[in-house]
Amino acid sequence: MDFCQGFEHFVRTQEPLASYAWLRIGGAAEYFAEPNNVTELAALLKRCREQDKPVRLLGGGSNLLIRDEAISGVVVRLSHPSFTNIEVNGAVVQCGGGARLANVVSTTVGLGLAGLESLVGIPGTIGGALRGNAGNNGEDIGRWATSVDVMTTEGEVRKCGAGELRFSYRESNLDEFVILGAALKLENGDAAELTRRMQKQWIVKRAAEPLPEQNISILFRNPADVSAASLIEQAGLRDASVGAVRLSDRNANFVVAAAGAKATDVLQLMELVRSRVHEVFGIELKNGVTIW
Ligand SMILES: Cc1cc2nc3c(=O)[nH]c(=O)nc-3n(C[C@H](O)[C@H](O)[C@H](O)COP(=O)(O)OP(=O)(O)OC[C@H]3O[C@@H](n4cnc5c(N)ncnc54)[C@H](O)[C@@H]3O)c2cc1C
Repeated sequence: MDFCQGFEHFVRTQEPLASYAWLRIGGAAEYFAEPNNVTELAALLKRCREQDKPVRLLGGGSNLLIRDEAISGVVVRLSHPSFTNIEVNGAVVQCGGGARLANVVSTTVGLGLAGLESLVGIPGTIGGALRGNAGNNGEDIGRWATSVDVMTTEGEVRKCGAGELRFSYRESNLDEFVILGAALKLENGDAAELTRRMQKQWIVKRAAEPLPEQNISILFRNPADVSAASLIEQAGLRDASVGAVRLSDRNANFVVAAAGAKATDVLQLMELVRSRVHEVFGIELKNGVTIW
């Protein structure tokens, strides 16, 4: 059976991926799916299993380095409104996996719910944030998740309760699933005070990062007790570049891609940084960005 049969209204072929990633780099997806609901998503995953097609989830593309070559298999994006809902019930916010984290943060802060204000300025979706346990200043999203709705590769919907969920620094145990949504249980607070805190944090974050209108990505995770950016700077790599990519002069743990940049440039720059930091400090930097 043709892979797309019956899915023509939500699957495209040979979709260029660069425009979906913050780095604006990357080849085309063999298949690109934006299902309209959970039923279509389940049918798609079932066919992927039957036809042995790898599945990749695309959130906001803010933590992805997509290789220059064609990406085989299916890239799924939960962009339909049935995956982007945000509903607040008392102190619990139920949000879809495709919802923007920024919208969830501003909605909850505006309602005087405390917890997510420290995640201000983190781009991407709830799905991406939960998968990588996004966070800032020691606070992370996983702390607030009381349940996560997932779909298995068999197309089965499951609710993972708090007892099953594991979150640690930039990691979760949700790697095998499509994250459909989550319930976050927050605390009651004062909207004006939370807004002030959020704005302050946003200003600090913006000043410490490259400009969002540039094509950018974080490179490495922070090793325990030290920032990757300071190690990179102290290793004398402030001005390091390969081809059309260079380290950001505002934060050395970000890469900035100019027109014509290739994923191979970024990968080479990462290797250069990794080996130099290891040489100088004996510390092995781990990838912060997901590589497809
Ligand atoms: C300017 C800037 C600032 C940043 N600041 C921070 C920060 O302060 N703290 C921080 O932690 N990160 C930060 N990041 C990194 C990034 O924003 C986060 O990792 C973010 O949570 C990624 O979400 P996304 O939706 O963009 O995921 P993507 O980049 O699209 O994907 C990342 C991973 O999540 C998976 N994924 C996405 N959606 C789903 C889903 N629904 N189900 C299952 N898997 C899914 C993808 O397959 C991929 O493996 C920053 C990035 C930039 C560019």
